[in-house]
Amino acid sequence: MNKIPNSMVRRCPRLGNPVPFDYCEICGDEKQPCFKILDCWWEHFDVVRYLKDHLTEDQYNQLLQARPKSKVTSLVELIEQARKRNS
Ligand code: SF4
Repeated sequence: MNKIPNSMVRRCPRLGNPVPFDYCEICGDEKQPCFKILDCWWEHFDVVRYLKDHLTEDQYNQLLQARPKSKVTSLVELIEQARKRNS
């Protein structure tokens, strides 16, 4: 099982202040993990492994679907849509 140090804290880009990992695990809808938890924590430890060990498969898949698209992905999609409209 992938253990995490209790003291692990990082600056939250949404709140603008430090938050512990425990908070990120339960601050989403219905006490589920925050939709940004993978983006925020992958550099600190193996958060993918940790969540796979601690969530059900459904919960994990919901988390993946809840992640917002990156700006680049959104931009590429907008360009594609504009191309299709103009062709
Ligand atoms: S996972 Fe969510 S609550 Fe936690 S630091 Fe990132 S944005 Fe903030």
